[in-house]
Amino acid sequence: MSKAIPYKIYLEEHEMPTCWYNVRADMKNKPAPLLHPGTLQPMTAEDLAPVFCEELIRQELDNDTRDYPIPQEILDFYKMYRPSPLVRAYCLEKKLGTPAHIYYKFEGNNTSGSHKLNSAIAQAYYAKKQGLKGVTTETGAGQWGTALSMACSYFDLDCKVYMVKVSYEQKPFRREVMRTYGASVTPSPSNTTNVGRKILEEFPGTTGSLGCAISEAVEVATSTEGYRYVLGSVLNQVLLHQSVIGVETKIAMDKYGIKPDIIIGCAGGGSNLGGLISPFMGEKLRGEADYQIIAVEPASCPSLTRGKFVYDFCDTGKVCPMAKMYTLGSGFIPAPNHAGGLRYHGMSSILSQLYHDGYMEARSVEQTRVFQAAEDFARVEGILPAPESAHAIRVAIDEAMKCKETGEEKTILFGLTGTGYFDMVAYERFHDGQMTDYIPTDEDLQRGFDGIPPVNL
Ligand SMILES: *Cc1c(COP(=O)(O)O)cnc(C)c1O
Repeated sequence: MSKAIPYKIYLEEHEMPTCWYNVRADMKNKPAPLLHPGTLQPMTAEDLAPVFCEELIRQELDNDTRDYPIPQEILDFYKMYRPSPLVRAYCLEKKLGTPAHIYYKFEGNNTSGSHKLNSAIAQAYYAKKQGLKGVTTETGAGQWGTALSMACSYFDLDCKVYMVKVSYEQKPFRREVMRTYGASVTPSPSNTTNVGRKILEEFPGTTGSLGCAISEAVEVATSTEGYRYVLGSVLNQVLLHQSVIGVETKIAMDKYGIKPDIIIGCAGGGSNLGGLISPFMGEKLRGEADYQIIAVEPASCPSLTRGKFVYDFCDTGKVCPMAKMYTLGSGFIPAPNHAGGLRYHGMSSILSQLYHDGYMEARSVEQTRVFQAAEDFARVEGILPAPESAHAIRVAIDEAMKCKETGEEKTILFGLTGTGYFDMVAYERFHDGQMTDYIPTDEDLQRGFDGIPPVNL
């Protein structure tokens, strides 16, 4: 193929994906089922009904249907901000002097500033279709809460967001974006729930964690009529919705005859990475093609690289089902100097299984190197990346520099999940030389592992 590759590859509207792709259909070893925390039996649709919307439960439990047609109402919403551009990073390549070809799929081109809107709109749609009044959720850095607020206002649903306290305080502007879209935002842990009060009693002064905010949001959803809980990452259904990223990327690359050698994504709960790699992983699982796939996580929250692959609680309050995943323990909270997001203690069961089975690799990176990559990228490619996304940029640059040494002309694809306009406090610390790296000791990690339930014995 000798078609010249433009800086930005956009798809025409008629070329956009019409189905989500469910990678579980092609996995020989399916992700382990969620377990009921009381009975330790696999969660049934009935068990999940008080917590999640019906259609989303069906998607959560469905390991077999390969293609899910995207409902027209969701396609219409997608058209407001999709297709997202697939960018050839010519400027970055030149700056690095690498023979590698670098591409990134940019998901920050919407007001929420990240890929999370792809799943938020789907979840709000199914909640509305079920006739619910509203949804509750947690948010860490605030991108998910923002995305969900936008989606809920579009479908006229109430939206209650529990926001990790440290982010609530560091990112007041995020909070105001959510309120602009009509959501109510509460810092977590809070006094508004039983589980929040209990956590505050046990750990006064805690800066909060995603796991703790999840517990609060679930409690409110299950105790308020007409409400359900929605989650922005980790779950199988979220990876399904996020597959739109990967399917779109694959269509665009196929159009120009491009085949990536390396695919890189940052991994918090695993949704953007899972979405980006899905169709490529499908080919790999079916033995049709091979790709090197790399998950990148913070050295300060290293669930894949240093965690255990076991059943664990998904939330600090232990009210949610248990998932088999790479985990640092539900009590794990990253050191307070950690600024780059990706703070969740566990990892998507799908990605955990694929990693365990050797279909992908994982790397952890220290935050000062991550912010250095963010700055280098911003200066040549123009986009100011989210710190989360910068984890992927870091490894993409590292791989491109290896190509420079070996002279290999590899094609590198990475997910640029969002923009970092609301992360300027973290950027400020980096610029002022006040950012430090903290790598948890084995002892630190052991404290988290000690909280893993004995169901694994
Ligand atoms: C939430 C978020 C992530 C991490 O979440 P995943 O579920 O692992 O994708 C990465 N980048 C951005 C910009 C985010 O908002």
